[in-house]
Amino acid sequence: MYDLDNPEQGVRECPKCRRTMQYLRAYNKIRRNEGYMIDDEKDHSRAIGFWFGWVASMLYLFFRNIVQPFSAKQEGEKRQRRFALLLKKHPESLICLHCGYIWKLP
Ligand SMILES: [Zn+2]
Repeated sequence: MYDLDNPEQGVRECPKCRRTMQYLRAYNKIRRNEGYMIDDEKDHSRAIGFWFGWVASMLYLFFRNIVQPFSAKQEGEKRQRRFALLLKKHPESLICLHCGYIWKLP
């Protein structure tokens, strides 16, 4: 399958799921600040405050708004560093956004 939206040279299909792969280089650039994008819009702090008191609801809010995004950001950065390292060795590597397969290319 030829992707008309990406008429670049070197565009390849994922060997696993046959979807168009993207340059890991480009992908790694847009993955910054991953943690801040995560918001499931489920705020249970009022219910928790009602049943367990304000201390519990503070702890909940602390976890939800600080610990959770922070750890997600850390995870994202860790992965980004790993990709950056890989890109040093294999600058033309491709990634499949569908299944996460990474194709190491020189
Ligand atoms: Zn794939």
